[in-house]
Amino acid sequence: MHYPGTATPDRFPAQDRFAAGAQYIAGRLVAGTSGHVHTVVDPATGKDVLSYELAGTADVDAAVAAARAAFPGWAGATPGERSDALHRLAGVLADRAEDFARAESLQCGKPLKLTREFDVPGTVDNAAFFAGAARHLQGQSAGEYSGDHTSYVRREPIGVVGSIAPWNYPLQMAAWKILPAVAAGNTIVLKPAELTPLTSLLFAQAVTDAGIPDGVVNIVSGTGREAGEHLVGHPDVAMTSFTGSTAVGRRVAEIATATVKRLHLELGGKAPFLVFDDADLEAAVHGAVAGSLINTGQDCTAATRAYVQRPLYEAFVERTAALMETVRVGDPSAPDTDLGPLVSHAQRDRVAGFVDRARGYARVVTGGATPLGDLANGAYYLPTLIADAAQDSEVVRSEIFGPVLVVLPFDSDDEGIALANDTPYGLAASAWSRDVYRANRATREIQAGCVWVNDHIPIISEMPHGGYKSSGFGKDMSAYSFDEYTQVKHVMFDNTAVAAKDWHRTVFGDR
Ligand code: NAD
Repeated sequence: MHYPGTATPDRFPAQDRFAAGAQYIAGRLVAGTSGHVHTVVDPATGKDVLSYELAGTADVDAAVAAARAAFPGWAGATPGERSDALHRLAGVLADRAEDFARAESLQCGKPLKLTREFDVPGTVDNAAFFAGAARHLQGQSAGEYSGDHTSYVRREPIGVVGSIAPWNYPLQMAAWKILPAVAAGNTIVLKPAELTPLTSLLFAQAVTDAGIPDGVVNIVSGTGREAGEHLVGHPDVAMTSFTGSTAVGRRVAEIATATVKRLHLELGGKAPFLVFDDADLEAAVHGAVAGSLINTGQDCTAATRAYVQRPLYEAFVERTAALMETVRVGDPSAPDTDLGPLVSHAQRDRVAGFVDRARGYARVVTGGATPLGDLANGAYYLPTLIADAAQDSEVVRSEIFGPVLVVLPFDSDDEGIALANDTPYGLAASAWSRDVYRANRATREIQAGCVWVNDHIPIISEMPHGGYKSSGFGKDMSAYSFDEYTQVKHVMFDNTAVAAKDWHRTVFGDR
């Protein structure tokens, strides 16, 4: 949905900043050549932010060629040199924090307080973490395992990585894809979602300004069908790292598998939020509101299914609804706004569709509407709480990706854990209890890549992020991400200096 006029340029002058184009190839901004123009829209107002020509297959080829040309030099740099470069990058990112915060807010509709206090500092910290981690790539120790040889392991970069990112956290997703890949000596071509290319481009400019060689980081801003599939299938790309929905992840996996690529998939989620009857109710209510509404609910780890043990159920529903009603929905650039719009009008309508259908089988306790007045042109949707839905209903099974929390009761601990696990997804979960044995059991038995106890959402650069089950495989952040972005080589030296080695008799001659 478009409305006439252009978004207020002082929020971030995107059209001026990307006048040369929205592709970043071999250290410079260039225009795409697909012949198709895409317009980035401010979801808070419906006004245009940036019109740019999308990347076509020739642009992907140019970006991959630049990454391939840069690979030998970057892979051959010492860990110390790569570390220094990433430290400089962390500094450039920090210097430009306000620029990043405004651009991210503008293209996604995120409140400025979220981009200033979460997206941008998290990204700077990630760069600083990988600057350090670049010098600590560790492997097995060398040894004489056969008795006659010395064996050791080399961890080597893979080559050109092709990465694809979603629109919900464009800056952090760019950082999570780029930083471990280049810290380990790879070069990369990243395709952001076509809705949200601004901060990936700013990130690539910061990479160049930090003195990292041209071609190490390249950005192709294009559609999934054209640029995305071409990147995944490209013969000169050695690895695909994809973050997005499970449905698209399946398609990406098919193409990557057909070309025998290493694959890292970070897919959808439907995180359970399990409240036992001894939990601190006030803490659980606050956690549920923050954990379900962060980034307007467009967060793959967001609390989406609250299972509350029967004695606390009604009080939890009532107090969560009351707290949700205090959340200030509004202009993302206003300092006191808590909740901005969804990323697009299409996403808002998709979320509204889920809630409207739920009215037929569940209770919409609060929300379930778009605000009127000044906000009517934006892609806004009020914080929404749905109670009494059946476990097999659509709002419990599907990823809604909006400010909607569904609450269901449970009786026994066994039932609560079984319900939490009753989903194809396995990205994140939380357990709320003051009993360490109960909470510890939940952390063991819930099938998810992250389980919080008495909190929900915090992430940290040192710790891995990634899914179980249909939420994918492989890890972002932390030293574990190097397992994705390096390949392990066994090197074996003969120590005997004997021509006729003992083992040869299994092939010819006698002892
Ligand atoms: P999406 O799957 O629609 O798109 C993700 C990316 O894939 C975009 O860049 C898109 O252009 C591209 N794409 C689309 N079709 C493609 C194709 N055929 N081939 C190659 N690329 C293609 O997801 P979205 O709507 O942008 O983001 C929301 C989804 O991302 C949610 O499911 C959310 O859970 C998931 N997500 C997961 C994580 C995680 O860490 N697991 C993090 C953030 C978002």
